[in-house]
Amino acid sequence: QELIKKLEETIENFPDFPIPGIQFKDISPVFLDPKLYEDVIADLVAFSKGKVDAVCGIESRGYLFGIAIAVALEVPFILIRKKGKLPPPIVSEKYDLEYGSAEIETREGQIKKGQRILIHDDLLATGGTTEAVARLVEKQGATVSQFSFLIGLKDLNGEEKLKPFNAEVYHILEY
Ligand code: 5GP
Repeated sequence: QELIKKLEETIENFPDFPIPGIQFKDISPVFLDPKLYEDVIADLVAFSKGKVDAVCGIESRGYLFGIAIAVALEVPFILIRKKGKLPPPIVSEKYDLEYGSAEIETREGQIKKGQRILIHDDLLATGGTTEAVARLVEKQGATVSQFSFLIGLKDLNGEEKLKPFNAEVYHILEY
């Protein structure tokens, strides 16, 4: 609808960045348009309203929308960070990226047992990052209830990796 069209016009595509073969979607122009940003948040909030007890945002672009979603839902926001940025005690999980491999971490105790969690990021590519976050959430005794993204990249089959978690998956746009 209207929002999808506006986002499609706004998000810029960069072929072969940061390495050959990658179609990089740059979401930074969204922040030049406060009304569009508000509409994106409203759409993502509508998806999660009443369904989650906390939001996990993935560093770093997952923070740009995730924290606004959590505040609107009046639930806690938990930072999922790249390795080495958080003081101990931490919990961590390894994963493979679209380009390279990595490890994510969060402060121990911030995700609480039994919570219904929304995992949010700007973009779902191979699903490797998001899947690792979902494993981390379950390791803490919480449930992954929902995944949300601005963008899903269809050809990379990221959603397949998320299926085992039996959670709702939502993206505003698909390429
Ligand atoms: P995945 O683990 O699903 O392969 O990769 C998703 C992660 O990589 C997300 O955290 C996302 O921010 C980042 N990412 C991968 N490709 C792109 C891209 O084309 N544009 C943007 N904005 N982020 C990307």
